[in-house]
Amino acid sequence: MHEHDVIVVGAGGAGLRAAIAAKEEGADVAIVTKLHPVRSHTGAAEGGINAALQEEDSWEDHAYDTMKGSDFLGDAPAIETLTKDAREDVIQLEHWGMPFSREEDGTVSQRPFGGLSYPRTTYAGAETGHHLLHTMYEQVVKRGIEVYEEWYVTDLAVTDEDDPEDRTCHGVAAYDIKNGAVEGFRARDSVILATGGLGQVFDHTTNAVANTGDGQAMAYRAGVPLEDMEFVQFHPTSLPSTGVLISEAVRGEGGILYNAEGERFMFERGYANNEGELASRDVVSRAELTEINEGRGIEDEYVHLDMRHLGEERIMDRLENILHLAADFEGVDGLEEPMPVKPGQHYQMGGIETDENGETCIEGLYAAGECACVSVHGANRLGGNALPELFVFGKRAGYHAAGRDMKTAEIPTGPSARSEAGDVSPAVEPGAIEPATDEDAVADGGQTADPTAIVDQEVEAERERIERLLEDDGTNHADIRADVQQTMTEYVNVFRTEEGIETALEDLQDARRDYQDVAVEDPSRTFNTDLIHTLETRNIIDLAETIALGALARTEFRGAHWRAEHQTRKDDEWLKHTMIAWNNGDLDLYYVPVILDGESKTYEPVDRSY
Ligand SMILES: Cc1cc2nc3c(=O)[nH]c(=O)nc-3n(C[C@H](O)[C@H](O)[C@H](O)COP(=O)(O)OP(=O)(O)OC[C@H]3O[C@@H](n4cnc5c(N)ncnc54)[C@H](O)[C@@H]3O)c2cc1C
Repeated sequence: MHEHDVIVVGAGGAGLRAAIAAKEEGADVAIVTKLHPVRSHTGAAEGGINAALQEEDSWEDHAYDTMKGSDFLGDAPAIETLTKDAREDVIQLEHWGMPFSREEDGTVSQRPFGGLSYPRTTYAGAETGHHLLHTMYEQVVKRGIEVYEEWYVTDLAVTDEDDPEDRTCHGVAAYDIKNGAVEGFRARDSVILATGGLGQVFDHTTNAVANTGDGQAMAYRAGVPLEDMEFVQFHPTSLPSTGVLISEAVRGEGGILYNAEGERFMFERGYANNEGELASRDVVSRAELTEINEGRGIEDEYVHLDMRHLGEERIMDRLENILHLAADFEGVDGLEEPMPVKPGQHYQMGGIETDENGETCIEGLYAAGECACVSVHGANRLGGNALPELFVFGKRAGYHAAGRDMKTAEIPTGPSARSEAGDVSPAVEPGAIEPATDEDAVADGGQTADPTAIVDQEVEAERERIERLLEDDGTNHADIRADVQQTMTEYVNVFRTEEGIETALEDLQDARRDYQDVAVEDPSRTFNTDLIHTLETRNIIDLAETIALGALARTEFRGAHWRAEHQTRKDDEWLKHTMIAWNNGDLDLYYVPVILDGESKTYEPVDRSY
C-alpha cells in the first residue's frame, strides 16, 4: 500500500495546482494519474485565461460578466473568489515562466472573448493550455512531488455511515495500467479529485477519449451529490468530422460566421444584435443549429467560420495552431477558405458539489477543476473562465486539504443544504437505476475502523471486479458506450424535448442492463485499453443518467439548457441548483438555492441578451 498525506487524482491544470499548494503547505503529496501529466486534456486548451489585469478593468466587472454568462445560476461567493484571485494567480503563472503572448511594449496581451465586457483573455498563441500544463508540471518536478503515472483510479475508499456527511474518505484503489496490479493509496489527510470532464458521454465532442467523468462517477457512488448536471456546454465551433475544437479566439480576433446563403446570420437574422459572433456560446450554438435545421446550413450539417480577412501575418502570429487543426483534421486551408464548423459537446458546467475550499460533504474528500461544481459557471460557462478556475480552486483545495486554516466557506454542501425535494422521472423504474456493480461503493467499517483496512477492503473488491471482467464471457463495452453516446447526442443535446429525454432515459436503462453482462475480451495485463474502456463505460452510463434526469426535471430554459416545452427562464421557480445523489440504493433529486448575494453586490437577475 502506498501512503501519503494528500493524494491528488489527476494531473491536469487543477491537479497540478492542487499538488503544488498542498506541498507548499508542508504535506507529503502524491499525484495519481491515468495519463502522463502533460497528456492531460488541459493541454488542448487553445484560447486563453480570463483575468482583470488592466487598470480600466476590474474583478467586479469580470464577476458581473460571469454571473450574467451563467444566466444567474452561479453562486456569487464562488464567482467573486474566481475573479478576484485569478489576477494574482495569472501573475504567479507569469513568474513561473508561462510564455504569455505580449504587446510591443512587453505587457501581457489580452483579447476579447464571448460574453466579456472587456478584452481580458490572456493567452499564449492558440496553445494556451499546452504552455500552462508544461509551466505547472515544471513546478511539480522542481518540488519533487511524486507522480504515479498510468495508474487508473477505480474507486474511492470511503466509510459506510448512513449519512454521507458522516463518512470519511481514506484513499483510493487504483489499477496499474503498465502491469495489471491493483493497489491501495492511503491518504492520511485527504483525497483531491481533479479528473476533468466527461465529453465521452456524447459522440460529437471536443474532448479527448480519456474524458470519461471518472471522478464525478466515483464521488457519486460514494454519496456526494452531483450538482447541475443538466448544464452541458456545446461549443459552436467544432470541426464536423472529428469534433476537434476551433477556438473562440478566432471569433475573438474577428472571425465571422456565415450560413449557406452567405449571410452573417448572428446579426442578419437577429440572434445577437450587439455582440454577434461574440455572444455567449449557448446563444451562438443555438443560432447555428437553427440555421442548419431551417435549411441554411452547408451540406445540411455545418456553417462557415471565416478568418481570411484577418490577414496572414495576424493569423500566423496569434492563430497559427488553428491553421494546422483545420488542415490536418478537415483538409481546409484557413488562409484561403472558410472553415466548416458546428456545435459539439465541450464542457460540463455541473459536477461534484464543493464549497469554495474544494471540500465535498464527505470528510477528507475534495474536488477541483472541471470535475467539480463550486458553481462559478452556473447554466453556461464563459470562454476563458475554466482555466482560471483550475488554478484558483485547485490551489484552495490543495491548501485546505493539507490543513491550512482558511476562511469558512459560504457555500453549503451535502444533503443538509437541501431546500426542496424534486421528482425523479417516472421513466426510470425504481431499482433499475442502480449504478453498475455498486455494492462496493462504500466500504464496511464505519469511521472508527482502521483507515488502512478500509482501503484494503476497497482494493480487494476492485481486484475481484477486475478479475471477473477479465475472466468472464459477455458483452463488449464498445456497443454499450456507442449506444449511450448516440442517445445522448440525439436527445439531450442543444435542443431538448420532454419526449426525447424520456427516450434517452429508457435507452440508458437498457445500457445499464447490458452492462451487467459486460466482459473484457483482451486478457492482457499490460496496457489493456479494452479493460480501461470497460471500467470507464460504467462511469459514462452513471453520468449520462444524471444529466438526463436533471434535464427532464428542469422545466425552464436557462443558459445551455433549452427545453421545447418551456421557452422562458423562470426565476420565481428555478433559481436553484439541481442535486442528484446516490446513497446505497436510493436515488435522490433535490434542490439548493442559488446564492446571489456577493461581497460587492447582490446580482439581481436581468434579461440576458448580447
Ligand atoms: C479543446 C478544448 C479547448 C479548451 N480551451 C479553453 C480555453 O482556451 N480557456 C479555458 O478557460 N478553458 C478551455 N477549455 C476548458 C478547459 O481546458 C478544461 O476545463 C480544463 O483544462 C480541465 O482541466 P482539469 O485539470 O479539470 O482536467 P484535465 O486537464 O482533463 O485533467 C484530468 C486529469 O485526470 C486524470 N484522470 C482522469 N480520470 C482518472 C482516473 N480514473 N484515474 C487517474 N487519473 C485520472 C487524467 O489523467 C488527467 O491527468 C477547453 C477545453 C477543450 C476540450
